[in-house]
Amino acid sequence: MRTLLISDLHANLYALEAVLADAEGKYDQIICCGDLVGYNPHPAPVLEWTRQHCSYVVRGNHDKVVSGIDDLDWFNDIAKEAARWTIAVLSDDQRTYLRDLPRGPQTIGPLQIWHGSLRDEDEYVLSKGTAAPSFPLMETPIGFFGHTHLQGGYFSKYGRVGVIGQVRKGQTESVFELEPDLVYMVNPGSVGQPRDQDPRAAYAIHDSDQKTVTLRRVSYPAHRTAEDIRRTGLPDVLAIRLIMGV
Ligand code: ZN
Repeated sequence: MRTLLISDLHANLYALEAVLADAEGKYDQIICCGDLVGYNPHPAPVLEWTRQHCSYVVRGNHDKVVSGIDDLDWFNDIAKEAARWTIAVLSDDQRTYLRDLPRGPQTIGPLQIWHGSLRDEDEYVLSKGTAAPSFPLMETPIGFFGHTHLQGGYFSKYGRVGVIGQVRKGQTESVFELEPDLVYMVNPGSVGQPRDQDPRAAYAIHDSDQKTVTLRRVSYPAHRTAEDIRRTGLPDVLAIRLIMGV
């Protein structure tokens, strides 16, 4: 089974379209690690695409705030303004879909998915130190998560944790073979708002037969999303960070 893993789509339709074109023919199912909406100007089409095409989805913190599960006060002013705008443009039915998304972790055959960490769906796993407590909680040899918008991840063997890096600039992919005595947690990176100094949309493909994970980056017309951000009146800083990948 080849699984396309996507996370943190954040209402960026042009980035999502570029990922799907790039990954075409390379996967059998699509799984999403949360944050369909927030920050960017295409929440309804991205949500409807997810509803139609993803086999499994876990909720992200933005999905929780926009659907009313969590309070807006969790967010900084920019995220809050974008969330208010998103709430206004989504239908009741679409917000209900977000509200009903399951929390992570979810176990799906040979893998698990969650948004933040295994001990807290809203925790940012940004270091070996924050990754380490999740490894003993894993029920499968590999899991996928999001939330940080940083592509890469961690592996563990006998309690020692190592780092998996993002695809290097100038390259489009990095492939790693899964070793049988290691446990992995992989962040496919963010489709809709990368923050790892690389503005290209990020995703991953897990091949459970070949026992590989491929991390990929693909360019997309970020200036078009930026134009739509400005046209809809969302905060301009959201356009700038897309162009810069921060
Ligand atoms: Zn996010």
